[in-house]
Amino acid sequence: MNKEEALVVFSGGQDSTTCLFWAIKNFKKVHALTFIYGQKHVHEVDLAKQIAADAGVDLKVMDVSFIAGLTHNSLTDSSVIMDKEKPKDSLPNTFVPGRNLFFLSIAAVYAREIGVNHMVTGVSQTDFSGYPDCRDAFIKSLNVTLNLAMEEQFVIHTPLMWIDKAQTWQLADELGVFDIIRNNTLTCYNGIQGDGCGECPACTLRREGLETYLASRK
Ligand code: ZN
Repeated sequence: MNKEEALVVFSGGQDSTTCLFWAIKNFKKVHALTFIYGQKHVHEVDLAKQIAADAGVDLKVMDVSFIAGLTHNSLTDSSVIMDKEKPKDSLPNTFVPGRNLFFLSIAAVYAREIGVNHMVTGVSQTDFSGYPDCRDAFIKSLNVTLNLAMEEQFVIHTPLMWIDKAQTWQLADELGVFDIIRNNTLTCYNGIQGDGCGECPACTLRREGLETYLASRK
């Protein structure tokens, strides 16, 4: 296992792109893995390819679209109207059950195959929309499980776990990639690159974080 290399679970969105550049700063060689999971906006995969190519990172795209067939949620099913806000007693329907469980498990198998034991994911507990698979407890638990499952010493890094969206913008700025993150990534649930549609939950979170950060920078 090579401790100088890392595998980033990479979607081409703000968070995972920030993590990609965090990994480039902290590891000698970085690999990226992007999933096609039946997302409505598969265009994000093309953006991910472009960002990785520009950054000189090896990107593997893997089709796991069976995930979309398992459940109904508004990110993979056009007939489901997206929750604008988190319902009181349940998860928003933008939650794709098992997504990070599948992604990180598959990433670990791939990482093992290419001789890498460091993995990086852009999940965050601080800003989370209530997604249980973005919480620190889940990541730590899965890390142990993956080690037991494959008799490996994987280390899952979560640079964004305890920071909010404004601090994520700050991190991008410190890494010297503020403009790349702002212009080239896709976070919007309506599939619009850069600043997005401005209205979906993902855009709202991203925009509020950006405004807070820009106000603090002045
Ligand atoms: Zn949007």
